[in-house]
Amino acid sequence: MKLSRVEALQGAIRRLKDGTTEQLFLEKELFNTEAGIRGERRLRKKFVEFYFPQGYEIIWNNCLSLNDWPVQIDGLLLTDDVAIVIESKNISGELHFDHVTGEFYRIDSSGLKTVMDSPAIQVEKHIRFMKAWFAAHSIRMRVDGLLVFTAKQSELKTLPLNIHTCRLHHMIELLFKIINNYKPQTNSQISLRYIKNLIESNQQAFLQKPLSLHYSIKPEQLKPGIYCKQCETPTIVKHTRSWRCTECGIVDNDSPIRAIHEYISLFGEPVSNHEIRKFIGINDRHTVKRMLTLDGFEKTGQKRHSKYFIKEKER
Ligand SMILES: [Zn+2]
Repeated sequence: MKLSRVEALQGAIRRLKDGTTEQLFLEKELFNTEAGIRGERRLRKKFVEFYFPQGYEIIWNNCLSLNDWPVQIDGLLLTDDVAIVIESKNISGELHFDHVTGEFYRIDSSGLKTVMDSPAIQVEKHIRFMKAWFAAHSIRMRVDGLLVFTAKQSELKTLPLNIHTCRLHHMIELLFKIINNYKPQTNSQISLRYIKNLIESNQQAFLQKPLSLHYSIKPEQLKPGIYCKQCETPTIVKHTRSWRCTECGIVDNDSPIRAIHEYISLFGEPVSNHEIRKFIGINDRHTVKRMLTLDGFEKTGQKRHSKYFIKEKER
């Protein structure tokens, strides 16, 4: 039931008043998130051209952590001689890495300049992370990285100094070049399958920070109610044994739980009965209590001080 980032953003956007700064911010964020997902999809598709008979493993969407340091790495290619961190960025326009200032910026088709966090720094960080992660698991593995720009309408005007960077079209050839830079390791001991299994068994649920942390949204700014997934309006109401939309008539018994997850994606955990009542526009605390005790939540505190978390296995 946990909402994806896209679902969380869509949920928040429709509850905000049209045209507010917060809504525009979130719409931009939604646009970027969806562009990122499309870019990753394109990258994975391209990977079918990676024909490497010596054997390799590729692991997509890695959520790993070392102590309290979490990372999300788009792709990790494992070969006998080197592991390569692959990051995809779907940014269109003219792209510049300024070697003097270290800045990364884009100039779009209308000539507008936008400075962004440098994705090359992110790759450097992820290389450093993977080196530390392998060391912590006693695996001798060299680590390199590749930054791939997936937008069709993008032009790389300058490249970063320390990180291999290319457009998607060039990715496979550049991967081979990087691998060829590494001399075969003597007595490389552990099988790639073993390393892959180890990485997969160490995957963690990626904890999204509540949206309100970034955009300072307050509960009062949001339209209350339970939204119908079909009509996208807060028109779900409780009937004797079911939750039904007053507009289209659809029965959707998951809708109140989805609304609780919407609240959590905005404001985090734990939540109180009172907060949820206000958010979904239902006055009856017993109805809300039933929702919070039955469906994937756990309670701390007693009676009116009760607060609720999402159960670990539901994350
Ligand atoms: Zn409806």
